[in-house]
Amino acid sequence: MKKEYIDLHIHSNASDGLFTPAEVVDYAMRAGLAAIAMTDHDTVDGFKVAHALIEEERLEVLPGVELSCYYKGMDVHVLGYLIDYENPEFVRKIEAFRKERYERGEAMVAKLNDLGINLSMETVKLIAGNSAVGRPHLADALVREEFVQTYDEAFARYLGYHAPAYVPKPVLTPEQGIDLIHLVRGVAVMAHPGTLKHDEFIPDFAEMGLDGIEAYHSLHDKAAVQRYKNFARKHGMIFTGGSDCHGPRKGKVLMGSQKVPYSCLIDLRRVKEEK
Ligand code: AMP
Ligand code: FE
Ligand code: FE
Ligand code: ZN
Repeated sequence: MKKEYIDLHIHSNASDGLFTPAEVVDYAMRAGLAAIAMTDHDTVDGFKVAHALIEEERLEVLPGVELSCYYKGMDVHVLGYLIDYENPEFVRKIEAFRKERYERGEAMVAKLNDLGINLSMETVKLIAGNSAVGRPHLADALVREEFVQTYDEAFARYLGYHAPAYVPKPVLTPEQGIDLIHLVRGVAVMAHPGTLKHDEFIPDFAEMGLDGIEAYHSLHDKAAVQRYKNFARKHGMIFTGGSDCHGPRKGKVLMGSQKVPYSCLIDLRRVKEEK
């Protein structure tokens, strides 16, 4: 079978995915993918493990990262591809983001405690292990300790954007996110614009030096995919795509579900060469 599809948005358990890097690689090969990018939140640990596991001719594994930025009060995720992930300044920065995530986890646990929910950071640590701590780990902890019945209920009642135990991360602007990715000769791509619901921001991000837009995504319907391809072309950017697979976190494993053509990777490499 000729491998023609890729998946450029995958989380492992180095952040809030449920698959180990080895399970990600195994699943990708079974799915017949030609290439995958590991895009954990604020860490490249999962990429490093996956990269060490594979034989290049069977599956290409590309370094990536997903950064959470804030713009006009909205959460904007910026993906960095083909980054020089060993750059010491980059390593220092994402280590700092990770530390901030841990402290934010503690702050959310404190808020939960104030609400009479007796969750301990120890339980969260047990679930998160060495991962970059995220709300999904807290949600899992709340389910495990039976403070809520389901993962979604944990977000609805406590952890969602407008819920009482929500704590924002320290502000990183999209410009700072894009600059950080460019510092390590990476390609900066706006993640899942369809979830932001503010397409009017895209020209601002293009102005800041954004290189691409994620057109294919599990939360984009066909019309959205086309719309974001058009946006990319209009602003002289490339388009990419991926499933945003978090393993079986929400039931179905999404990896490979978006038919992202290999040409997206060729485009990424071309832009990288210009860096
Ligand atoms: P964090 O980066 O710690 O703010 O966590 C963000 C992650 O939490 C997202 O990538 C989603 O996977 C998950 N998430 C955010 N909001 C919700 C929600 N309302 N329901 C379910 N999952 C959510
Ligand atoms: Fe996530
Ligand atoms: Fe995201
Ligand atoms: Zn993601």
